[in-house]
Amino acid sequence: MDIAQLYRVFLKHPDVCTDSRKVAKDVIFFALKGVSFDGNKFASKALEGGAAYVVVDDPSVVSDQDDRYILVKDVLKTLQQLAAYHRQQLKLPVLAITGTNGKTTTKELIATVLNRGYNVLATEGNLNNHIGVPLTLLKLRPEHQIAVVEMGASHPGDIKELVDIANPDYGLITNIGKAHLEGFGSIEGVRKTKGELYDYIRKHDGILFVNSDDPTLMEMSEGISRVTYGTDTSATFYAQIIYARPMMLSFRWRQVSMPHDISTHLVGEYNLPNALAAVAIGRFFDVATDGIMEAIAEYTPTNNRSQLTQTDRNTLIVDAYNANPVSMKVALDNFDKIRTDLPKVVILGDMKELGKESLQEHKTILNILVEKSFDKIMLVGKEFGAATENLTSQRQNTLLFESAQDLEEYLEQHPIDQSIILIKGSHSVHLENIASLC
Ligand code: ATP
Ligand code: MG
Repeated sequence: MDIAQLYRVFLKHPDVCTDSRKVAKDVIFFALKGVSFDGNKFASKALEGGAAYVVVDDPSVVSDQDDRYILVKDVLKTLQQLAAYHRQQLKLPVLAITGTNGKTTTKELIATVLNRGYNVLATEGNLNNHIGVPLTLLKLRPEHQIAVVEMGASHPGDIKELVDIANPDYGLITNIGKAHLEGFGSIEGVRKTKGELYDYIRKHDGILFVNSDDPTLMEMSEGISRVTYGTDTSATFYAQIIYARPMMLSFRWRQVSMPHDISTHLVGEYNLPNALAAVAIGRFFDVATDGIMEAIAEYTPTNNRSQLTQTDRNTLIVDAYNANPVSMKVALDNFDKIRTDLPKVVILGDMKELGKESLQEHKTILNILVEKSFDKIMLVGKEFGAATENLTSQRQNTLLFESAQDLEEYLEQHPIDQSIILIKGSHSVHLENIASLC
């Protein structure tokens, strides 16, 4: 069966599923392979669960009498090709977003702003990889007017693969910093990979949205059609920031002479470029200014992304979704700027996937901690353990834990009270449970 034939099947059964446990009636089940599972083995179960068809690439699971099996050479490639084909049929504008930090936040802010004037399809949660992007595109329906697609990368070539599937008309890189260095090799590798989005837009005469305050992005986007936004007066969407407060980001931006005040539910000044991107894109697509302002003000982050929580005992900033040298630094700078009488407690988990730069990057964070005067510091993980090893004078207010579980046990014995606490670390350190103990 070629892609055009499979597409006709898809038009009759437009719901696609890759998890046999979540199969619903009438879906097409794509039997993907993972490190520890083979979807082919669940194909018959998916049919029993109500799937209309199953796309498999292991001939041994196919039942000859059953024409609901669609045998292909490679299920993942087929899923990607089907998504690309579907996207080509629907001629709506697609905006692709990548970058080291702030992709999901920026995507959600943009989507919520565009929702004020359009029927928007946006990536759900963080489904931003070689499977998530095709699954997102396959959710496109004729009634959608614009799509906002998040693209993640951890290896060179990842973004090229995704843009070739999604065919974006518009592109936005949030920023370029150190992350996934194990896969990218170096910061230059990160820049080149994220730049694959710019390369695509350049080649296909698309338009970029570029943060004019970021010299790297400005340099990379030279010569490509671009709309700029930022606090630089030369920006197309120039926002003069009259104030920006670190606890809950609120800011006033000014265009020509009209000042606009926005109070957000976002913690951290580092969210300012994310919010300004949403302002610029909203205006570019002619969303009314009031709608833009309301949408940004109403947006509340989920999933432990810079979330502010008030418990019985403490104020928490939970940012346990990801951590890399840049996001860790901006989180600490921001936490430092918050004016409060409460003691400040910092709980940091390891930054993962930094390869050979890991030790140095963790030491850099320790140096930042020494410069700031936080009241208590709790570090979790082997990487921080290694970085503190040769520090001759470990400060009294700093505690080191091998795992989140060790810290949990400690906190049960030594609860923190009447403090403001920043919790940040890579997802795999599992600091998210710590919040419930504070
Ligand atoms: P992932 O790679 O996990 O998909 P992401 O790029 O989608 O991450 P978000 O989930 O939006 O990023 O935000 C994760 C964290 O990144 C935030 O909680 C914050 O610490 C940091 N962050 C967000 N925006 C910025 C920014 N503009 N500059 C630096 N750090 C930021
Ligand atoms: Mg994300």
